[in-house]
Amino acid sequence: LMRLYGPLTSLSNVHVDVMTALVSFDRVFEVLDLKPMVAESPHARPLPGGPVTIEFDDVQFRYPAAEEVSLASLESVARPDTGPSQEVLKGVTFTAAPGQLIALVGPSGAGKTTITSLVSRLYDVTGGAVRINGADVREVTLASLRDTVGVVMQDAHLFHDTIGANLRYARPGASEEEIWEALRAAQISELVEGLPDGLDTVVGDRGYRLSGGEKQRIALARLLLKAPRVVVLDEATAHLDSESEAAVQRALKTALAGRTSLVIAHRLSTIREADEILVVEDGHVVERGRHDDLLAANGAYAELYSTQFEHQR
Ligand code: ADP
Ligand code: MG
Repeated sequence: LMRLYGPLTSLSNVHVDVMTALVSFDRVFEVLDLKPMVAESPHARPLPGGPVTIEFDDVQFRYPAAEEVSLASLESVARPDTGPSQEVLKGVTFTAAPGQLIALVGPSGAGKTTITSLVSRLYDVTGGAVRINGADVREVTLASLRDTVGVVMQDAHLFHDTIGANLRYARPGASEEEIWEALRAAQISELVEGLPDGLDTVVGDRGYRLSGGEKQRIALARLLLKAPRVVVLDEATAHLDSESEAAVQRALKTALAGRTSLVIAHRLSTIREADEILVVEDGHVVERGRHDDLLAANGAYAELYSTQFEHQR
């Protein structure tokens, strides 16, 4: 009889583990506002550790038609201007070598956010390939991809849970001191200290309502805590007041140092530091290079610079 109980007990334990894993995986998507639009390949392998190279190889992309995106945000369903078969990326090729900072600039609607969303495989490409250390992201486990890539987008989403829990999803083993350190570096510790429940304050649509800038700083703290090997960032300065901006920027510099980074750059200082600037227009990279060389070339970048960035000097 004992021999029968043994396996039965361990089987039910396995069941519990699987359920826990499913629940937390679900929440990971919620944290990053990533809706699982993609399926894991049965042959998927985890990414090996070490420095990361990201490669876009003639990437083409069109958003799935509305009826295909029942799981995706209402926003995408509600966009009337983009037909289902409209190519958003029309052959994007670049390489981010280990530790490099690649800046994406270009007019609104050009495809910058779309490019960054393909790194964490929010969607699958419709042509070409995105590779990380030579492995097509479609052949990599979703969990290891999420572990490797840290994302802070313009409209950072937190889930309905405490601030502490929101941060711990980035690194479950983080100590309270590490959490405060990250909050301080992201210039949001004072606000959290001032809340009656501190780290235990529940945030989100049904909890304490943070402003856009506050949410973004919590998301930055999460990124600092996670310290991922790849950082994907939409700088989106709009949310941050000028006083916290300089401090946040210092924190970001730490977050980006030594990591392979893809930044939708809104700050001249980031653009100047970029190893390569990609000027994106209408789904193409129309120009690439470093700041000084691109200015001298007097092309698309020079034009963009005079309208968008020169006033930041
Ligand atoms: P950028 O970040 O450079 O402003 P985006 O990558 O956000 O540009 O958008 C590129 C194009 O893709 C735009 O035409 C935009 O309307 C469209 N688009 C962006 N997100 C979605 C979506 N979720 N569903 C359908 N179309 C989208
Ligand atoms: Mg964008």
